[in-house]
Amino acid sequence: MKTYRIEIEGLVQGVGFRPFVFRLASGMGLKGSVENHTSGVRIFLNSNNGYPYGFIDRLRSEAPLQSHIESVECFASEPLEFSDFSIVASRDISDEVTRISPDIAICSDCLHDLDNQKHRKGYPLINCTNCGPRFSIVMGVPYDRKKTTMSEFEMCTVCSTEYNNVYDRRFHAQPVACNQCGPRYRLNSKGETISGTEAIVKASAAVIESGGIVAVKGTGGYHLVCNAMNEKAVYALRHAKGREDKPFAVMCRDIEAVRQIAVICDGETAALASWQKPVMILEDRGVVAPSVSNGLRTVGVILPYMPFHYLLFRELNTSAIVFTSANMAGEPVITGDREAAGSLEVMCNAIVSYNREIYNRTDDSVARFIAGEPRLSRRSRGYAPSPVRTDHVTEGIFGAGAELSNCFAIGRNDEVILSQHIGDLRNSATMEFYESAYRRFSEMFRFRPSLLACDMHPDYLSSAFAGNLAYEKRLPLINVQHHHAHIASCMAENRTGGEVIGVAMDGVGLGNDGRIWGGEFMAADFCSFERHLHFEYVAIAGGDRVSWEPWRSGLSWLGRYCPEAVSCQQLPLIAGTGEEKTRLYLELAGKGINTMEYSSAGRLFDAVAAITGLDYVSKFHAEAPMRLESAVKHGIDRSYPFSISEGVISFGDTIRAIAGDVIAGRPAGEISAMFHNCMAEAIIQGTEIVSSKTGIKRVALSGGTFQNRYLTERVAEGLLSRGFLLFFHRNVPSNDGGLALGQIAVAAAHRAAGLV
Ligand code: ZN
Ligand code: ZN
Ligand code: FE
Repeated sequence: MKTYRIEIEGLVQGVGFRPFVFRLASGMGLKGSVENHTSGVRIFLNSNNGYPYGFIDRLRSEAPLQSHIESVECFASEPLEFSDFSIVASRDISDEVTRISPDIAICSDCLHDLDNQKHRKGYPLINCTNCGPRFSIVMGVPYDRKKTTMSEFEMCTVCSTEYNNVYDRRFHAQPVACNQCGPRYRLNSKGETISGTEAIVKASAAVIESGGIVAVKGTGGYHLVCNAMNEKAVYALRHAKGREDKPFAVMCRDIEAVRQIAVICDGETAALASWQKPVMILEDRGVVAPSVSNGLRTVGVILPYMPFHYLLFRELNTSAIVFTSANMAGEPVITGDREAAGSLEVMCNAIVSYNREIYNRTDDSVARFIAGEPRLSRRSRGYAPSPVRTDHVTEGIFGAGAELSNCFAIGRNDEVILSQHIGDLRNSATMEFYESAYRRFSEMFRFRPSLLACDMHPDYLSSAFAGNLAYEKRLPLINVQHHHAHIASCMAENRTGGEVIGVAMDGVGLGNDGRIWGGEFMAADFCSFERHLHFEYVAIAGGDRVSWEPWRSGLSWLGRYCPEAVSCQQLPLIAGTGEEKTRLYLELAGKGINTMEYSSAGRLFDAVAAITGLDYVSKFHAEAPMRLESAVKHGIDRSYPFSISEGVISFGDTIRAIAGDVIAGRPAGEISAMFHNCMAEAIIQGTEIVSSKTGIKRVALSGGTFQNRYLTERVAEGLLSRGFLLFFHRNVPSNDGGLALGQIAVAAAHRAAGLV
């Protein structure tokens, strides 16, 4: 007989891995032990037949769905005596960190139990080792009940029998609970409290059916819910949320119900039904109330992921409800029950909550199917805090992230742990969330920073935070150029090294020349980059208001490239702005007052959206580019002219042609399609020029503009057919939400090269 020590690394903690190993080993009649250890799971196994091939094969092939095995190593060990196979309790491993699983949508076995298990009949917080809350309730590691917000609930004898029975699906399921012993739901409405799940579900459904609004406590925060088919209700919800204009997500009863409201392919179906349950951006069929998507031809759809959602749909006639996070525009989603009671009471007819605390706030993640893959634009519930494996030594590096769609990140060994989506740091409550999330990550992952990285923009609050940390702890701080970080993020996610052509397209990022970049072609590796080509600079006046007021970009581009059009009243932009205001604006921009020069793709989209009359003043981030994409008429191959010379791409001819087409009455859908085609063509030609100069054939695409499906698919097709090797984001957002990963990768490369 020989003893073997097996080390498994990957996402193997908090996902029912130890019980799985136990059941596997005991089922095979093997003796030994399993325990959580540093960054994974350690198994001791006694084997009579030498190397345990069979066991390891089954370990890999039968592992729980939510787990992710990165490596299995097996070593001969000192002989150890075991009388059976056992699970060794977690020890607090000082200075070592363990992984925390993201939250997992309810599994099909638990859905079955919801109707059939005596003590959990209709229990709305049912869970097992394969499903349920994780990150949202974890307060510390190793992952154990006493370090979660379940610690105050004592298990009843039935639950504890299951918890201690290794052959049970709830063996060591930390949030295990039932109708007798677990947290309970309650409903508050106008000072009245209803308890009892059945009554709560019925009352909630009645409110929704009658056009009211219900606040429902979810996994990582509260949601606001109303009938998505009832325009009056949806409109009222917009009003209640402080006239928010962002498209709302819709939760559908099931995939059949999704098909009623949206066009959906197999890949989208699979992504929607995955255990992460993200919101998928789909093509709208125009069935839900118009106020849901507010004029966009897409709709964000999500499937039920908590038992309560399923119970609610059983009582509802409607098969689609608006499902939006409960917050005031710009603020983080509400997680606290008292806060919910205080601020949601006025806007809702009922508040449904349960008495288990949400420790880590998460929003619903958002993805879109682009070029054959679901790609995240917001990475939060179901994904955070899963690490991203890299080819760098990232230990101790902090990436502060951007400012608007902020996520920060910490480096651990060779991994990067991105925080949940934080949001716009200029909102003071969101900045507080950033600071507290950083403290919690430091604690949970026992993170001790040794190197800091932030954006080059000194005014970003994330940069200021990193600056303070550097000062307090006397640590080196690296300022990473915004678009270099985007490209590095894309390279790191794809685990590619060497040199790439980085194509970074976005709204705003400070460039090395002190101007605003965002239409960039660079040759880059992790340490450095050379800017070879960029969009032509255009001066736009208005400071921070520029990205919210596309009319400014519209006037700037017209003024610059087709001055005869700025007095043309046939252009709705000019007629709408008025002669006086137009003249004043151009004077201001001409004199350079409160004016910056932009080489940004985002601002060019703004300009075209304004000139075509699609958006003059934006009410949510990137509204103008979204409206422009949404307007695209499909099946058009014509394009607008543009020119490239001496490292600059000019869209002067494009703007002149577009202004002419608007005056001639060409429909906005055709103009938009031709503009998108022109952008794609410019990106492809730009890439070819950099390639012929540098000999590089590998291309990394990053930046928020690549959330545009039409553009990205056209660019990808063009580049692939010209023999380029493409790298693109998948599990890390291409927008500023993915920036922190790139910052850490750049800092790690600097450190490895001895530059810090
Ligand atoms: Zn389950
Ligand atoms: Zn119980
Ligand atoms: Fe950006």
